[in-house]
Amino acid sequence: MTNIAFVGLGNMGGPMAANLVKAGHDVTGFDLSPASCDQARADGLSIAGSAADAVRNAEIVITMLPAGKHVLSVWTDILPSVKDSSLLIDCSTIDVESARKAHAMAGEQERGLLSLDAPVSGGVGGAKGATLTFMAGGAKEAFDRAEPILSRMGKKVVHCGQAGAGQAAKICNNMILGISMIGVAEAFVLGEKLGLSHQALFDVASTSSGQCWSLTTYCPVPGPVPTSPANNGYKPGFAAALMLKDLKLAQEAALASGASTPLGAEAAQLYALFNGAGHEGDDFSGIVNFLRGQRGDPR
Ligand code: NAD
Repeated sequence: MTNIAFVGLGNMGGPMAANLVKAGHDVTGFDLSPASCDQARADGLSIAGSAADAVRNAEIVITMLPAGKHVLSVWTDILPSVKDSSLLIDCSTIDVESARKAHAMAGEQERGLLSLDAPVSGGVGGAKGATLTFMAGGAKEAFDRAEPILSRMGKKVVHCGQAGAGQAAKICNNMILGISMIGVAEAFVLGEKLGLSHQALFDVASTSSGQCWSLTTYCPVPGPVPTSPANNGYKPGFAAALMLKDLKLAQEAALASGASTPLGAEAAQLYALFNGAGHEGDDFSGIVNFLRGQRGDPR
């Protein structure tokens, strides 16, 4: 059993922390939202009065927060209270620069602290079912210590490289996802205009060179893949607001690093329009309706 502190008990952090309790760990949590704290208490966590109080006895500290500014603010609050030689793991999706800054803040303490950026893919379903994929950045020693704990919340844990590499992998992957979803959606819209049935296009493309996850697992039109959100009124799944967040992070990183990502930029713009039309809470595959010119009304 390990003493673990968990700060940020929202849609993702709540069920992730609950899975650590189920695995037999002693988990102390904190969240600004009283409702999240109540749910976490019901899931078997102890709730502290502040983030700093939550970490005092922890060997491992996990944060799962909305954005880089929240992570840097919470890490600033907790670092004076963490035990020497403890391991800090940030599982939030944040910008690479803030992730590297968080690692540096931990290192500057000169108290033997280890740190890891370990964002996830798999959404709320993956958080509840402990089937997340973790992509981690940081020293090997930090990864080796984190791996058994992360494995209780996910099915795959990949060490991507040094500080910030986990966040880099996450935004590169999600940039592929945003672009590929738009590509698949455009193909269905064009196919419709050309009199092609959804099933015919699916049967061909899913076994041809157009095959990809956005088509075969998450098909944006109802019918061919019964489990995709298209068959459920485009309820998320993965909300368009989160896709836009990740595409913006990819564009920030592209600008900062000088990478050329014209399709990533176009995807960010299209998802900004889709979100701006009131579809932040829809599944991101709903962009097919927006491209069809129906302003996102599900067919
Ligand atoms: P959420 O808004 O449900 O949860 C965030 C929690 O952080 C909230 O409960 C909020 O009260 C808490 N919080 C904010 N500031 C705090 C502070 N200073 N101290 C303590 N608690 C604080 O968000 P979520 O869906 O759980 O996402 C968390 C992270 O995971 C985000 O970075 C998101 O991009 C990433 N992510 C989400 C999904 C998803 O499908 N929801 C998938 C992959 C990654």
